Amino acid sequence: MSIVDHIRTERDISREELEAILATDDKDSIEELRSQAREVATSVYGNKIFMRGLIELSSHCKNDCLYCGLRRSNTNASRYRLTDDEIFQCCATGYRLGFRTFVMQGGEDGWFDDKRMCRIVSTIRQQYPDCAITLSLGERSRESYQALFDAGANRYLLRHETASPEHYARLHPSEMSWQNRIDCLWTLKEIGYQVGCGFMVGSPFQTIDTLYADLQFIRELQPQMVGIGPFVATANTPFEGYPNGKVSDTLRLLAIIRLLHPHVLLPATTALGTLHPRGRELGIQFGANVVMPNLSPIAHRKDYAIYDNKICTGEEAAECRACTEQRIKKIGFETVVDRGDYKA
Ligand code: SAH
Repeated sequence: MSIVDHIRTERDISREELEAILATDDKDSIEELRSQAREVATSVYGNKIFMRGLIELSSHCKNDCLYCGLRRSNTNASRYRLTDDEIFQCCATGYRLGFRTFVMQGGEDGWFDDKRMCRIVSTIRQQYPDCAITLSLGERSRESYQALFDAGANRYLLRHETASPEHYARLHPSEMSWQNRIDCLWTLKEIGYQVGCGFMVGSPFQTIDTLYADLQFIRELQPQMVGIGPFVATANTPFEGYPNGKVSDTLRLLAIIRLLHPHVLLPATTALGTLHPRGRELGIQFGANVVMPNLSPIAHRKDYAIYDNKICTGEEAAECRACTEQRIKKIGFETVVDRGDYKA
């Protein structure tokens, strides 16, 4: 039995198998990995790719993550925050374009406190009862997560970044806590959110062991979504001189995650599209089933600069949507107007 067959039937992977898959340059094994991962994705979700409309609320951030262009120490970053009306406008445009999930993401910006954020969420909830509301606003208190859930949010994306506390400590300043981030994910799950965790591929100091720990953590948490994308070295951060994560590693990890978790919602990320012109298409071919076109107002797009050379910063929402749809069609898949919930 091949390694890929083994992972697929056991829904489990050993550290050695992970190492072997990431190390191989045998084209046939990579093609086997790709085709089996895609087969598994298709058996659950068909050839349908779910679209989420991404609204980037704020480029202000109180944190100082060493990899991120929005870290507070980056005095070169342009900071903006969307007004309530701009956010509602994005939703209106998105709804018209067929989006049934709105993802509101931002830096950890105290301006978007519970009062403001709950008001925004409940307004969107009332206006679009048929849509899913996803938040990705970093670490907040249990009370805050609960209030946002009660206001109508359904899903929360919070990448765990790395399942190794030692690795976490090398990617973040000492005032940030790995344990707190992990606790947040469990809290979100307890409250009833559909949760997404995830990590960057090729972040500085990442090893086979930390990646293996990531896969074990995902197995333990059983999230509905897993967001992974390559690390992109970014100017004016401490990691600007480090190498980018590899597209090929990211694709292999997407496929592995699909084989281990057939039902998981797995985005082909913008970071993947940034490091390869057909990165998102390749992601889908390796088992991804979600894309997140940008709905943010064009005036601020460039300023949500978590990493350098981010794609899709120049197009209006409608163009972004059309371009995404076309790319997906070209490789034989179809985008759907649907909330795209997790299929248990
Ligand atoms: N403040 C929110 C959103 C963070 S941005 C939060 O804490 O969840 C979303 C994700 O982008 C991060 O979780 C991180 O994994 C990724 N990211 C940040 N900087 C990056 C970089 N330089 N290259 C690739 N991905 C990056």
